[in-house]
Amino acid sequence: MGEPVAFRCLTCGRQHAPWSVDDVCPRCGPVAGALEVEYDYPYLSRRLSRGTFAESRRLSLWRYEPLLPVSEKHAVPLRAGWTPLYACPTLAAELGLGALWVKDDTVNPTASCKDRGTAVTVAAARKLGRAALVCASTGNAATSTAGFCAAGGIPCYIFVPRSAPRAKLAQLVAFGATVFPVDGVYGDAFQVAVQAGRRFGWYNRSDGMNPMVVEGNKTGAFEVGEELRCDLPEFALVSVGDGAVVAGLAKGFLELVRVGLAERVPRVYGVQAAGAAAVAHAFARHQEGKPILPAREEAETVADSIRVDRPQDALRAVKAVAKTEGGFVTVTDEEIVAATQELARRTGVFAEPSGAAPYAGLLRLVVEGRIPSGSRVVLFVTGSGLKDPEGALRGVEMPEVIPPTLDAVAEAVEG
Ligand SMILES: *Cc1c(COP(=O)(O)O)cnc(C)c1O
Ligand SMILES: [Zn+2]
Repeated sequence: MGEPVAFRCLTCGRQHAPWSVDDVCPRCGPVAGALEVEYDYPYLSRRLSRGTFAESRRLSLWRYEPLLPVSEKHAVPLRAGWTPLYACPTLAAELGLGALWVKDDTVNPTASCKDRGTAVTVAAARKLGRAALVCASTGNAATSTAGFCAAGGIPCYIFVPRSAPRAKLAQLVAFGATVFPVDGVYGDAFQVAVQAGRRFGWYNRSDGMNPMVVEGNKTGAFEVGEELRCDLPEFALVSVGDGAVVAGLAKGFLELVRVGLAERVPRVYGVQAAGAAAVAHAFARHQEGKPILPAREEAETVADSIRVDRPQDALRAVKAVAKTEGGFVTVTDEEIVAATQELARRTGVFAEPSGAAPYAGLLRLVVEGRIPSGSRVVLFVTGSGLKDPEGALRGVEMPEVIPPTLDAVAEAVEG
């Protein structure tokens, strides 16, 4: 049912035949030539009903197969998606919100939201008969690619900046990937991965280089839609590095409307670190009628997954967020570190700093009045705190060691 009808270039508008190009529009090149997978929406809206997905009984993102470009028969065994959506009524009331939900994508197989894009991309590689994958990333997309390739017995080649957290490197090595820590920043790792991929014919899972990634990412929005019976919240917040995740969520919400399952989309807000805000600045330019590209800036933040100097999906992210009438917000590292702890304490969801950044963004948007009181909000929490314990523990006081005696405990408890 979900056969794509075209891969459309976001800049020149050319409709490439589905599967005729792997990555970007050859005429427009990377970033500008991002391709969008299009479906026969009128046909789908006749065929789909709110019950369709529930009937599938698959507890993974493959329950949305009718709206995906590849079918589950090509997928590898790891189970991505269908993650919990937690209601947080006490926190919502304290913030003056009508409702607040946390979408917990830390429980994906490799512990980040990247598994959504990877699941669909690796399935596409198998459908196309590709022998190997390549991925450049700040860490999580690489880890995810390595995990799914391990599950499918597919070789993969990974490029990460040498500054990637050790826990992420450990995951990569454990999955048996060929890992190249690059002496440079993320943008450097990205360039060399593109060149190597072209030279050796590897299928590229890097953000911005493959329209399949966004197709996987959009399933997070479908899940929120299904759980809330298509009564979508007014706001959805997610952190942004390259922009592939926010673009996917926005596309997912927009598609729910296009196929007639939802009435209106949430305003999607991208949250960036103040020190790594290239997409937020590109969005501001777009609002002023100026060109979105090129988007590149120095990037420095404690939140390593969104420490992106040259955002590879800036165009897609800006256009998608604009379509939802959403926006961007930037937060400081102090706010991100505080959010990491507060989110864990208040919801039981332990996120890496990038995963908790939307909580910091929420506090700002509420204070600034950009999210009015009474609004219903969903926060996408994208990566587990166990991915970067050092980042999560910044500014945290560690408990003191005690002797193994009841007296010591009693003294501590009773003072
Ligand atoms: C990748 C990632 C993001 C941001 O996604 P982009 O597509 O790079 O914008 C946010 N949080 C975590 C934990 C991630 O791994
Ligand atoms: Zn083009």
